[in-house]
Amino acid sequence: MRKPIVAGNWKMYKTVDEAVALASAVKLELQNFTEAEVIICPPFTALKAVGDALQGSYIKLGAQNMHWEKEGAFTGEISPAMLRSVFCHYVILGHSERRALFNETNEAVNRKVKAALAAGLKPIVCVGETLAEREAGRTNEVVRTQLEGGLAGIETGASGIILAYEPVWAIGTGKTASPAQAQEVHAFLRSTLAKIFGDNAAANIRIQYGGSVKPANARELFSQPDIDGGLIGGAALEARSFVEIVKASLAKG
Ligand code: PEP
Repeated sequence: MRKPIVAGNWKMYKTVDEAVALASAVKLELQNFTEAEVIICPPFTALKAVGDALQGSYIKLGAQNMHWEKEGAFTGEISPAMLRSVFCHYVILGHSERRALFNETNEAVNRKVKAALAAGLKPIVCVGETLAEREAGRTNEVVRTQLEGGLAGIETGASGIILAYEPVWAIGTGKTASPAQAQEVHAFLRSTLAKIFGDNAAANIRIQYGGSVKPANARELFSQPDIDGGLIGGAALEARSFVEIVKASLAKG
């Protein structure tokens, strides 16, 4: 059985002090909670302080992006080893905001996924269609291209990969994919993973849903057979709603 996994993507919110306060509040609520994997992804500037604040809990630290190179003249970038040095275990890659606003391509995502795995980081690889693509009936084609492109050439380490299905039209909009719509795409992604890595590996890879998940809709989404937790944006910025969503990830149990 796949262990549920819920990650909070804080995007470009929270100063160091605010981030430590929020992480501490989440930690207090989830002190002995081990039934699901819980990850907090603050901005780079708060990683170290949030990691320190999370010590003594089971909550893990994640970053929101990274560069694929080990080091070099790449002003403004952060390397995998730098993330490891502040005890990051996860990194979100290919978020739709990075793709749309910072021109991140499938090829760049692929380089990052390989670099993350090589450095011992678990990548959370995001895929998702825009509203226009969904309305044109292209959802499966779009997510398959992103998945195959992002994971191209990866032969080992599939078990360290987490996938996040995030329909772009649902991110930060208050619109959520219905549980049936989300399940349909998750099942399609799992069948695509099976073609790449084989049935056994595909059955073990966790696929999160992301896109306006709230305490009110989390349970129904997470009870779908191929939805293994969530990638949470807005609702992760408040301890109470994030913790409620984390607990809802046990819906199938
Ligand atoms: C996200 O940023 O990954 C996300 C899903 O955001 P929100 O929950 O706010 O839609």
